[in-house]
Amino acid sequence: MPSITLSAAAKLNLTLGIEGRRADGYHEMKMVMQSVDLCDTVAVELTGAPGISIRCDDPAVPCDGRNLCHKAAQRFFEVADIRGAGAVISIRKVIPMQAGLAGGSADGAAVLAALNELTGSPLEKAQLLLLAASIGADLPFCLTGGTRLAGGIGEKLAALPPLPDCAVVIAKPEEGMPTATCFARYDAIAAPAQPDHGGMCAALAAGDLRGVAKRLCNVLEPAADLDCVELLKRRLRELGALGACMTGSGTAVFGLFERPDEARACADALAGECRVAFVARPCPTGWRVTAHGG
Ligand code: ATP
Repeated sequence: MPSITLSAAAKLNLTLGIEGRRADGYHEMKMVMQSVDLCDTVAVELTGAPGISIRCDDPAVPCDGRNLCHKAAQRFFEVADIRGAGAVISIRKVIPMQAGLAGGSADGAAVLAALNELTGSPLEKAQLLLLAASIGADLPFCLTGGTRLAGGIGEKLAALPPLPDCAVVIAKPEEGMPTATCFARYDAIAAPAQPDHGGMCAALAAGDLRGVAKRLCNVLEPAADLDCVELLKRRLRELGALGACMTGSGTAVFGLFERPDEARACADALAGECRVAFVARPCPTGWRVTAHGG
C-alpha cells in the first residue's frame, strides 16, 4: 500500500502573550511562532480496511486514541468521508514531550498532510486548517509552519518575515509541565506585562537577530515559576546566547546564537545540566516529505 514518510518540526515561541479569557474557558493568545529543524519522523501507510494503528519508539507516548496522530487520522477519514481505508502510523520521537515544543501537534499535523496526499487531496488547504484547529490549538501552526503571528487559540495565522538564520540551542530540564497545569497557574497569578509583539515583528522585518533576541518574552514563564527554567536561561546567556526564553508552556528553554560553533559548545556544556540539549536551525515549514513508498 502507498506510504509517505515526513519529518515533523518542533515549534518555538518567540513571543507568547495572553490577551484574555474567552467565555468558553479558552485563553485568547497572541504569539510569534517559529518552526525549527528539531524533528520527529512520521511514516504513514494507507491501508485498504478501516482502522488506525500507531507504533512509537518511545514507550512514554500513548499509542491509542490519546495520540494526536490517531485523532488526526480518525478525523481526516471522517471529514473527507473516506470509509474503506485506514492507516498504519509509525512515529520516531526526537522532540521531547511536555516541553512546549508542540511535538505531538507536529506529528498530528504531519499525519493530516500525509493522508491528504495519499488519498488524492480531497481536502483544500483551508479545510485542512479547520480540521487541524478542531484537533488541537498548535496543529494549524504545525500544518503551515515557518514564522507566523498567531491569534485566537492559535488558529488565526499570519505569515511573518523569517527569523534571520541563526543557531538555536534548545534545552529540556528533567522536570516537565502539563500545558493545563501551566495555564491554571497563570490564571491564579497577577497578569504579567505582555510581550512587545509589534517590536518583535519589526525586528523580524528588519532581519535584526539581536532585536529579536532582546524581545523574546513568554508570559507563562512566571506562571511556570520553575527554578530549572530560570537556571537554564541564565546558563544559556552565560554561554553566549543573545537572548533566552521558555517556549510554550515549558519546560524547554531556548537561546539564539549568531555562530553555530558557539551554539554547539553551549549545548555540549548544558548536556550534563539538563535532560537533553539540541542545536537546531529555523526552518520554513512545519513538515517535509522525506520519502514515498509502496
Ligand atoms: P505543547 O507545546 O503543544 O503544549 P508539549 O510540547 O508540551 O505540547 P507534547 O509533546 O505535544 O507536549 O506532548 C504532550 C502530551 O501529549 C504527552 O504527554 C502525550 O501524552 C500526549 N501525546 C499525544 N500524541 C503524542 C505524540 N504524537 N507525541 C508525543 N506526545 C503525544
